[in-house]
Amino acid sequence: MVIHGGTVSGSMAMSAASVMRSPRLSVAAQARTHESLSLWKNLSMAEKRANPDTLPTRADPTGPCPWCGRVSNFEVTTSVDLSVARTSQMAYADCRVAVLTCHGCKKGTVVVTDNLGQGLMWWPVPGAGILDTQVNEGVASAYDEGMRSLTVGAYRAAAVMFRSALHLFVKDKGSEKAQNERHLKSALKHMKNDGDLHRSLWDWADHLNQLGNEGAHPEDYDDVTEAEATGLGKFVRHLIRHEYEMPAQLLRDQGLLEE
Ligand SMILES: [Zn+2]
Repeated sequence: MVIHGGTVSGSMAMSAASVMRSPRLSVAAQARTHESLSLWKNLSMAEKRANPDTLPTRADPTGPCPWCGRVSNFEVTTSVDLSVARTSQMAYADCRVAVLTCHGCKKGTVVVTDNLGQGLMWWPVPGAGILDTQVNEGVASAYDEGMRSLTVGAYRAAAVMFRSALHLFVKDKGSEKAQNERHLKSALKHMKNDGDLHRSLWDWADHLNQLGNEGAHPEDYDDVTEAEATGLGKFVRHLIRHEYEMPAQLLRDQGLLEE
């Protein structure tokens, strides 16, 4: 294909760029072309984003596996467009579902993504399914529900459930004095002073906004951002690992825990 005496690649972005330079295009057509080009730019940015700490997507098939809990590489085994959007220049999937298979455990996870390839929801939901069986049942259940809320963007609900997991942790492991504290932060501080909570976890808790925002009633909660809800979830996950899973593993290694 030859335009203006030069060879142009077959890619849509390149031909759109060439068309945009044409003085015959109307202002509205040029604006539409700009829209298409910025969409392509965003798509390529999404594809470059590789982060093994985040749940896997089609654009970034690395991360924790909801089945086996390992950080793994995934293979996209099936992909279907759920909804296709059209501009005057192009058509693109604005909602897509894919099955990603874990190279470790060989099980599949369903991932729904938006037009930029960012994850909207995952099944199975990463959460209590991969926690050690020795984790307190109430704590595991609240954490699991918090994770379910997080993966559908229900950040306030997620924060409420993560706080609930922490209250249940205090009830399970805290002294009577810690349990009688009305606010989570004070209760956790008590546990740190009693030697029931590792100092680094207390330092982390002390810096979490969402542990200082509790009102007297559920309707008093402030808005919760994605970063705050995710941060709180990470804290609860580390606390579970440190306070339940590591001691259980130690007992197993010493032959002192039979299940
Ligand atoms: Zn796996």
